[in-house]
Amino acid sequence: MSKDLDPSHAVYVGSFDPISLGHADIIRRGAGIFEKLTVGIGINPDKKPLFSPAERLAMCRDVLASLENVEVVCFEGLAVSFVGERGAAVMLRGVRTLTDIESEFTMSLANRALAPEIESVFLMASEKYTHISSTLIKQIAQMGQNNGADQLANFVPPEVIPPLLEKFRNGSS
Ligand code: ADP
Repeated sequence: MSKDLDPSHAVYVGSFDPISLGHADIIRRGAGIFEKLTVGIGINPDKKPLFSPAERLAMCRDVLASLENVEVVCFEGLAVSFVGERGAAVMLRGVRTLTDIESEFTMSLANRALAPEIESVFLMASEKYTHISSTLIKQIAQMGQNNGADQLANFVPPEVIPPLLEKFRNGSS
């Protein structure tokens, strides 16, 4: 690993649109392994997210407030470049399924070609959360205030439920 990069600092990137119980679990576990963990919310101008970068930032900070060695920031551009800019030597990823492992493997090889000084580290998703994805969360939220609200507690941290339901109020999204 590069002398300039900190091996006890990891960066976990994603869209977090919105942050799920699966993401929060990887972050909590990562924060227990590394001295410092930066959560990077990727801003991709080509994608149309449900939540704005500012909304995603506020929700992540709210959910992760009790984790003292975790910092949440937004970034644009290549994830692996962002990891280096933060001074971290580790890129943390979560994997849910064999399909995830396959795509993460390809991505980690690409990242290694771009920045060999940064190591990718993978944590297996907890079995309780392997089925959770941001796409599924949005579909459940769309089911409406009654059914959706009860179900959402199994997918997202409690802080995320009100802003999520608000997005779909009156079928606005
Ligand atoms: P992207 O939008 O770039 O696919 P995500 O925000 O969905 O990224 O996910 C960011 C990271 O979190 C990835 O490493 C992904 O594999 C992991 N992840 C996503 N959902 C879960 C989950 N339910 N449990 C564990 N890890 C997850």
